[in-house]
Amino acid sequence: MAVHTATGFMDLGIAVMALAWINEDRRKRRFPKWSPGAIAIGVMTLTIALWQAIETDVSHRGDEGAITHSLAHHLLLVFGLLLAAALSLSLKLAQTAREQARHVFDINLSLKESEEKFRSMADAASDAVIMLDSDAKVSFWNQAAEKMFGFQRDEIYGREFHRLCVPKDQFPAFEAGYARFRHTGKGQLFGRTVEETAVRKSGSQFPVELSLSAVKIRDEWHTIGIVRDITVRHIHQLEVKRLNKRLELIIKSAAEGIYGTDHDGHCTFINPAALAMLGYDSNEIVGLDQHALFHYAKADGSPYPAKDCPVSLAINDGKSRHITDEVFWRKDGTSFPVDYVCSPLVENGKTMGSVVAFRDNTERKNFEEKLKRSNEDLEQFASAISHDLQAPLNSVTGFLGLMKLKYADTISPDALEYVELAEEGGRQMSSLITDLLEYSRLSTNNESFASVDMTEVCGLCLNMLQTEIAESGASIDISDLSEVTGDRSQLIRLVQNLIGNSLKYRAKDRPPKLQISSREDGEFLRFSLSDNGIGIEPIYFEKIFGVFERVHENMGYEGTGIGLAQCKKIVERHGGRIWVESEPGNGSTFFFTLPASV
Ligand code: ADP
Repeated sequence: MAVHTATGFMDLGIAVMALAWINEDRRKRRFPKWSPGAIAIGVMTLTIALWQAIETDVSHRGDEGAITHSLAHHLLLVFGLLLAAALSLSLKLAQTAREQARHVFDINLSLKESEEKFRSMADAASDAVIMLDSDAKVSFWNQAAEKMFGFQRDEIYGREFHRLCVPKDQFPAFEAGYARFRHTGKGQLFGRTVEETAVRKSGSQFPVELSLSAVKIRDEWHTIGIVRDITVRHIHQLEVKRLNKRLELIIKSAAEGIYGTDHDGHCTFINPAALAMLGYDSNEIVGLDQHALFHYAKADGSPYPAKDCPVSLAINDGKSRHITDEVFWRKDGTSFPVDYVCSPLVENGKTMGSVVAFRDNTERKNFEEKLKRSNEDLEQFASAISHDLQAPLNSVTGFLGLMKLKYADTISPDALEYVELAEEGGRQMSSLITDLLEYSRLSTNNESFASVDMTEVCGLCLNMLQTEIAESGASIDISDLSEVTGDRSQLIRLVQNLIGNSLKYRAKDRPPKLQISSREDGEFLRFSLSDNGIGIEPIYFEKIFGVFERVHENMGYEGTGIGLAQCKKIVERHGGRIWVESEPGNGSTFFFTLPASV
């Protein structure tokens, strides 16, 4: 081939390589991958071209030393070829080394990145994250661990964890456990959450919750621990425990029977007092339906439907109930009267069951029965005595009247005055006996209750008291009064006593002014009777409703002190109450409530 043709091919080759180099992504590597081959081919081509040129030149000249020259030319050819191969090889080796170095660099970079990520994640955790190597030496320690234990990373890295952060008495167990773990990667505390005691740098101990897991790195077992400080939780738990203990003690020592039920009315706990009253052992009750066990029948023995049981109702509607006059049934089949309160047990707004507190009412019932009987006896006795006294008293006052009539002119004025005083005393005693008799009969009068028009009752009373009204010049204003349910004759006595008192205890300087009105008060009507009389000192507001209690006795007002006691008995017999409000000198207002007519 002519030299210029060869040069032309070489130029073309160089141009192709330059183009390929330009198109290579030079960010990745400085020399293209194919560069060692290209350089080898280039050097080989140059060597061969040079060798051929020299060879041609030598054969043209026909030198006598041609053989020597020819040997040198051949050596040059071999050297050129070897140089091409060496160049190509070293370039290839350099490329490979460079790529490996870049690879190692990349790995290191991503390792560093992921370590930084892991560290910042661990530092963001509120729990302590700790890593121990196979010798139990600390190899990782996050910020929370620094805060929790008080050791900074550079103080603890490379040091045996337990020597600094575990109570001394637990060293042997820790070391034995870790020795086993080092070989097996297993340990008692691994794979679960446990509560342990840890030690701070200050030496103080604190409770922790610990989760341990094992990781194998280069054939060695390491430990990763997540540690949570549970001091606050511990304090709460201790407080709850203490309160529970106290509550248990209170419930156990309470004289009242107390038991709890779940949402279905099954007994969850019961105190000793309740067990003693019911005659059961706790294992015979807990877990069973309380209604079916000791609340299945009413006092008369008829069945008590479970759907009506106040305990179930309290669970269903979430409202407490106070029940009186029911019975609970003992294990031996006998019953006893109870008074109980059942309250729903609400947790997070949800009714979980109920608590029932009950009292055995046997003694109270017996006492009430006795009291009732003795009151009845007493009333019968008072009634009999009053009745029997009335007859001789009438004859005494009668004879005194006769004596005054017959011997008024013959006996001395002093003797006449004594007779008159005796007659007055007899009259007073007679009205006392009449009032007492009436008082004692109030509760024995069993006239059945009916609807009573209080406006009519007041009208009747005004009629009965017309003399006193006329004498005193009283004005009486009665607002439209509603009807009540009650004993008509007793209500007449009530209103008559109150109006009579207002007329009697009038102020000397003004005529009596009375106002009677009523207003609704739930299922009751509240009546008020106000006057402008002499009034009552507040200290007597309650006292005046007792038998024989008189406030203005010394001011010349006549009376027996039984009128207001009668009023109180009448109102209370109707389920109402009576009271007074007054300002001495300015009048009084008597209030009383009676059941409204239905
Ligand atoms: P008495 O027979 O003495 O009137 P009551 O039981 O009716 O007995 O009243 C008890 C006492 O209450 C009276 O003695 C009187 O002192 C006082 N009292 C009752 N009503 C009035 C009133 N309207 N104003 C002032 N005091 C009154």
